[in-house]
Amino acid sequence: MTSTEDLAARFESVFGAAPDGVWRAPGRVNLIGEHTDYNEGYVLPFAIDRAARVAVRVRPDSTLRLLSTFGNQGLTTADAGALQRATARGWTKYPLGVLWALQQRGVRIPGLDLLLDSDVPRGAGLSSSHAIECAVVCALNELTAAGLGAEDMVLATQSAENDFVGSPTGIMDQSASLRGAAGHAIFLDCRDQSLRLVPFDAESAGLVTLVIDTRVSHSHAGSGYASRRASCGLGAEVLGVQALRDVRPADLGDASALLDPVTFRRVRHVVTENDRVLQAVALLGSAGPTAIGPLLDASHASMRDDFDISCPELDLAVETARSAGAIGARMTGGGFGGSAIALTPVDAEQRVRAAVERAFARAGYAAPDIFGVRPAAGAIRVG
Ligand code: ADP
Ligand code: MG
Repeated sequence: MTSTEDLAARFESVFGAAPDGVWRAPGRVNLIGEHTDYNEGYVLPFAIDRAARVAVRVRPDSTLRLLSTFGNQGLTTADAGALQRATARGWTKYPLGVLWALQQRGVRIPGLDLLLDSDVPRGAGLSSSHAIECAVVCALNELTAAGLGAEDMVLATQSAENDFVGSPTGIMDQSASLRGAAGHAIFLDCRDQSLRLVPFDAESAGLVTLVIDTRVSHSHAGSGYASRRASCGLGAEVLGVQALRDVRPADLGDASALLDPVTFRRVRHVVTENDRVLQAVALLGSAGPTAIGPLLDASHASMRDDFDISCPELDLAVETARSAGAIGARMTGGGFGGSAIALTPVDAEQRVRAAVERAFARAGYAAPDIFGVRPAAGAIRVG
């Protein structure tokens, strides 16, 4: 990734004037709590040390000029007075979606020159899209003096994704990106958006969080997600609760008599996963990162067996990492592909990497991308 100074210099050489500022927002990884967000439950993500940055300058007219450092994508021009979903293309959907969402909230959007850079791997389940959106919302909040608080910015970026980009995502990704802190995970209650920082200093515990990007992006991820959401909605309705968050593990015995077998398994995943998040938060406070390994394993088994959202590549990544020395591993993100995480003792890191690469090659799968992430600070102005 280029330095902030280089990004500002590049901005100046393309747009002919220095940017008004540079803002940075990280991607995130979810430690535990999968498919619990839309059930008004708990999640435990952390902001990672990979981020998107935007250099931005306000223009005197209403023209929007958007450029990125990725590949050979050229300059895109739009008008701040006529932001339209249908015409937004590629990565520009994300900044334009944020501008649109802010407009819907009554913020007057000026013309802008914007240059984007990012080292968050895209489509790997690390939320490269929210990194872009959060960097842009922070920049605009400041440049327009909109005075939005963190919760408003969370909802504005959610609206950008849901209503402009068209992805049915919740509030986890942008909450982590906007409100993360170094050395901490973010315990987020998706019912009321309340949030608490929980120490997650893997490094001091001699551990590294490895991300194993399987590079699989399954075509049925969209329909699979929709059908899981529908099952959860049905489960809540039959059980007579507002959301599955209101079902306790002790209620599962009664629930099994009321639900068809498939819906029951879907419900059991959500209920036990919520409980695992609570256990992980308690353990991180009392015993530190080493203690949560078994919860990561149980989370993966639940997603594989009850929620049916794993795939052979994710299962192989998780099983191989565990046998090679990781103390806990699970798929992370929506499922049907994407990444796994493996909490790994530093002295076993090379062994785990080599074993997973070998296992993938032997199975005839594409080479995985494996890298360490650490909990980093949330979005901030850097220049
Ligand atoms: P995720 O957020 O999990 O990475 P998404 O599909 O939500 O996956 O967002 C990925 C999209 O974000 C890409 O298709 C692209 O439009 C945009 N994007 C994000 N980062 C980059 C990048 N570094 N280069 C090009 N496009 C990017
Ligand atoms: Mg995304």
